[in-house]
Amino acid sequence: MKEQPPSARKKSLTFFRQNWVEIDKSDFLFNLKKIKESLKKDTKILPVIKANGYGHGGAELAKEAVRAGVYGIGISSVEEGIQYRKAGIKTNLLMLSSVYPCDGLEVAVYWDLIPSLSNLHDIQFLASLAKKLDKRLEFHLKIETGMGRLGVSPQDAYHIIEKIAEMPEIKMSGMFTHFAVSDTNPAYTKNQLDIFNDIAKYAKKLGLKFISHVANTAALMTDKKTHLDMVRPGIGLYGLTPFDRVVSKALKLKPVLSWKARIINLRKVSAGFCVSYGRTFVTNKASIIAVIPVGYADGYSRVLSNKADVLVRGQRCPIAGRITMDMMMIDVTGVKGVSVGDEVVLIGTQGSQTIKAEELAKLQNTINYEITCAISTRVPRIIV
Ligand SMILES: *Cc1c(COP(=O)(O)O)cnc(C)c1O
Repeated sequence: MKEQPPSARKKSLTFFRQNWVEIDKSDFLFNLKKIKESLKKDTKILPVIKANGYGHGGAELAKEAVRAGVYGIGISSVEEGIQYRKAGIKTNLLMLSSVYPCDGLEVAVYWDLIPSLSNLHDIQFLASLAKKLDKRLEFHLKIETGMGRLGVSPQDAYHIIEKIAEMPEIKMSGMFTHFAVSDTNPAYTKNQLDIFNDIAKYAKKLGLKFISHVANTAALMTDKKTHLDMVRPGIGLYGLTPFDRVVSKALKLKPVLSWKARIINLRKVSAGFCVSYGRTFVTNKASIIAVIPVGYADGYSRVLSNKADVLVRGQRCPIAGRITMDMMMIDVTGVKGVSVGDEVVLIGTQGSQTIKAEELAKLQNTINYEITCAISTRVPRIIV
């Protein structure tokens, strides 16, 4: 690293702020393999590595998935697609949200990204682009079956599919829908699946050839009828659960992400010592307060002030006082031998203790998805 003087270079530091995320590549590949093994042999798989891989770091994991063999990667945006292409990823990249405005479509096509289309206007736009470029352009059609988000409504779908069948310049290589309650409500999910299957059947009757895909992690784990030609697991790949209860059919997967830091300061204090903004934490006995360089600007929610624990030397230590932008304090009183430079685990395992993303999610009244997605890009992701 050029920025480093020779003395620092010797220690081969790759970052200075002692706050980083470790991504366990072998656990990610283990989860992918477990999911694959739960499918029929010819069922395709589209790992969803959107939003920087749910905060895990997108391009690196996408490369791993491609090496393991997949249909393609599910992504969020044109920007993400360009980033993956520049990183040398050559597989199908399917954009799961729609392209608006259509200027984005032209760029998507240039970078060989597959758009999801949700209305006739965009389909016709793609057809005119195909004529202009004299190239058959591919897309997936999104059907709205009960999520209440994007997709052509079932009432319009039949008519739109008839139109698509008359446009040889474009190729509908896939058709899909997305479930709203596959984690909690099998009856509603079955209804969504039935609506989708009827539409897909009609399209096949018109001679269209395409793959059908509907299953997110919760659906693929709970109902094999949702597997169709391809599944789209996201959260499960990262070893996190889509359920907020114990589900017997859920695959046993391994969390991929650990969030770590090091103690950068220690202070022995007496009773009555105030910690951080607002003085919300006051020691009630002689204590040791440590500082770690993790704050809400790193995506560790300020809501967790005085609520969450971290791990030091295998022991749970509570956060002391308000979390600040770049730092927080923790109460390490009673941790034998605690020292500056000790590794601190915010998410992950240390000794016999584990803090899961789900634990933090519960404390801040959200889901594990948001916990890892929120870890800001300034926190280095280290693949181990
Ligand atoms: C995010 C997403 C998924 C993945 O869902 P998980 O619950 O993370 O498995 C699948 N399909 C679509 C359309 C998505 O947007």
